Amino acid sequence: MTPFLEGALDWVYQSDPPKVCQDCGFDWSIDAGDALTVIESSPDRYEAALAGKNGMKSQADGSWNATAYLWHLTDLARSWTERWVQIGQMPGSRLVGWDPDELAEVRDYRSLPTSAGLWALRSAVETFAEVTATVAFDTPFEHGDWGNGDVADGLRWLGHEFHHHETDVVARAE
Ligand SMILES: [Zn+2]
Repeated sequence: MTPFLEGALDWVYQSDPPKVCQDCGFDWSIDAGDALTVIESSPDRYEAALAGKNGMKSQADGSWNATAYLWHLTDLARSWTERWVQIGQMPGSRLVGWDPDELAEVRDYRSLPTSAGLWALRSAVETFAEVTATVAFDTPFEHGDWGNGDVADGLRWLGHEFHHHETDVVARAE
């Protein structure tokens, strides 16, 4: 495991990161190619999870609605696609970080519509998969907060995001 993924796990779980996420069942030792499959196949699952449902129902605790997670995952896929292009040209270079909560506020994820979100997610994931095929899994990068990583651990990190947020969407859609 690269320092990047170790740092990511410490950030998610605070201490004693589990081998398998207790909330969503994601196995952190997953093969990187399988993690990519989790991401690539996710637009169908999100579409199914939201079919006939209201994804924009506001949450009593003020947290994101179901559709907001689509926009979060779309921005994640887009950003990491750009990062793969960057490190394809400049292996080992430093990735520019961004705060997902600030982005959610300025883009107003909670007000963005579900149908466009499903379209955006599918389009972003397709481009992500296309560009992922152009970089070797051992291509390195430097993450500002978590340290050195590679494409394989980036895919594991993103695979968990795409897997974990399914449970959030299912819980929030009505
Ligand atoms: Zn999880």
